[in-house]
Amino acid sequence: MKKKLIAGNWKMNGSLAANEALVNAIAQGMGQAACDVAVAVPAPYLAQVAGLVAGTPVALAAQDVSMQEVGAYTGEVSGAMLKEFGVRYVLVGHSERRQYHAETDAVVAAKAQRALATGITPIVCVGETLAERDAGETEAVVKRQLAAVIHLNGHCISEVVVAYEPVWAIGTGRTASPEQAQQVHAVLRAQLAAASEHADRIRLLYGGSMNAANAAQLLAQPDIDGGLVGGASLKAQDFLQIIAAAQ
Ligand code: PGA
Repeated sequence: MKKKLIAGNWKMNGSLAANEALVNAIAQGMGQAACDVAVAVPAPYLAQVAGLVAGTPVALAAQDVSMQEVGAYTGEVSGAMLKEFGVRYVLVGHSERRQYHAETDAVVAAKAQRALATGITPIVCVGETLAERDAGETEAVVKRQLAAVIHLNGHCISEVVVAYEPVWAIGTGRTASPEQAQQVHAVLRAQLAAASEHADRIRLLYGGSMNAANAAQLLAQPDIDGGLVGGASLKAQDFLQIIAAAQ
């Protein structure tokens, strides 16, 4: 049985005090959740949050990983370093990284490969911009982004989590409708099925202004297996309601 995954993406938010209150509230509030839960925290807080989630069902995630293994790469954080702090998932190719750090499909693939090589599950993000959607390019864009990671050396795509995040829905309060999201998820699922006999096992998350009010409907779609949650993951009550909606 494939469990849904609800992953919080804190982005560049948090403080020692705020993290402690948030993680404790999530861990205490989620009870016997039916889904898997993770929080993707800023790198300096990995050690702190590793301690806070120890002994709880909350998994630790990072927001980025270097495509390099070790050495003279100032500012980079390696997969092996993340692994030492108990990181289970890492976001790869988030649209903010693609946009502000010029991450190409090739870089995203190299990072996913590094994550897998160190035993961390990459959550590979794909999604079209508003201009691309308006130009009718949504399918072509997400298929191109997924194609870049579908045949990683020595790994099966079923080891990866995929997150569909329409860029126009991120942080805008403008969510894709459940039908719009499902339509793209079905396209991605078909592409996965053509590449792997395990396509049904692969978790396809939706992200982009998911919140306590819209989560249940999105998560009820046949090909939506969880959520990547930004803003609403910073408020324990909202995040807990999304977790509760992921049956
Ligand atoms: P949002 O962010 O939920 O604030 O739209 C989602 C994301 O960027 O992962």
